[in-house]
Amino acid sequence: MNDQDPLSFTHESVPVRIVLRAGAAVTATAEEARRLGLRRLLVLSGPRGADTARAVADSLGRLCVAVHPEARMHVPVEVAARAVAAARAANADGCVAVGGGSSIGLGKAVALRTGLPLIAVPSTYSGSEMTPVWGLTEHGVKRTGRDPVVQPRSVVYDPGLTLSLPVPLSVASGVNAIAHAVEALYAPDASPLTRLTAEEGVRVMAAALPEVAADPGSVEARGRALHGAWLCGTSLGAATMGLHHKLCHVLGGSFGLPHAETHTLVLPHVLAHNAPAAPGAAAAVARALGTDDAPRALWELPRRVGAPRSLAELGLAETDLARAAAQAAGEVTVNPRPVTTDGVLRVLRGAYEGAPPGE
Ligand code: NAD
Repeated sequence: MNDQDPLSFTHESVPVRIVLRAGAAVTATAEEARRLGLRRLLVLSGPRGADTARAVADSLGRLCVAVHPEARMHVPVEVAARAVAAARAANADGCVAVGGGSSIGLGKAVALRTGLPLIAVPSTYSGSEMTPVWGLTEHGVKRTGRDPVVQPRSVVYDPGLTLSLPVPLSVASGVNAIAHAVEALYAPDASPLTRLTAEEGVRVMAAALPEVAADPGSVEARGRALHGAWLCGTSLGAATMGLHHKLCHVLGGSFGLPHAETHTLVLPHVLAHNAPAAPGAAAAVARALGTDDAPRALWELPRRVGAPRSLAELGLAETDLARAAAQAAGEVTVNPRPVTTDGVLRVLRGAYEGAPPGE
């Protein structure tokens, strides 16, 4: 379904079980493993999340055979190879990834290589747990692909795990989720169900983030943000992403910029750029945000809570803009507005300077 033809679509649902409950990481993961018939789980996390991973491992008791706390951003191939070796050495029959998109990405890399089923216990709002998309980085270049084998079979959302996520990163991660929904709303392969999920995802996440910022210790606000992450992540899994995701992919993979923050800074500019070519999607985002200027609202939200204000602040050099724009323009396969290097450069310059979108 798209702005042009609302009665032409294909939709594929993926079989994934979702549990969202305070405390679920240690009270629900073992039951999810049993339902999947798994008895020898390797628990994966990043170094920072090792304590949480151990708590999940303890809750699994004899169902856990090892903990491997070595996930790193963008899944370097050598990190993936070590995790695959750990899974084989432990004779694991499945993995539990505890953490953000980097830990879940490592679980997906193991699944891709071995076929082992994955349970995800997310600690950010990245939405990766709801997609069959994997990523691997080699020699500074990140490759991504789609394979149903990497889609987590079960997702355990525990608001308690996200209490420690600092406010600026919480908001950046939440806007990263909103970006999935925005691009799903104008994707050529979005279905009526995807559009519902995406619009509601934006609404729930945009309402949750100011609550999280005002009271980061609120389990309710954190739960609402995870609810939003689930919906936004679902729309990411169900639709082909456009200019925004390709540009962020290039900025992260080839220029080393941090994932969620980059999404936050680029999204308002891409939405302002694409809106004239996707009026239905732009109207849906505005409805969900309760505004008549969605790019401006998305630009203001992170600034209010101390998130980075420009790609320059994140360390991108002005001399890199033209190269990044050309690389991203070459990677985009679908986008409502035809993609030119000049157009991408204008978007990128706006995010680089942190200027209000559309100016
Ligand atoms: P991340 O997992 O790298 O986490 C970011 C930082 O936050 C890390 O330093 C981590 O240790 C810390 N952190 C995570 N949870 C925390 C918590 N609860 N409290 C305190 N600190 C915490 O980042 P991310 O933004 O979650 O994920 C980014 C990665 O995921 C990228 O590689 C991106 O490409 C990938 N991703 C993939 C998909 C997909 O569908 N395949 C979707 C979104 C993101």
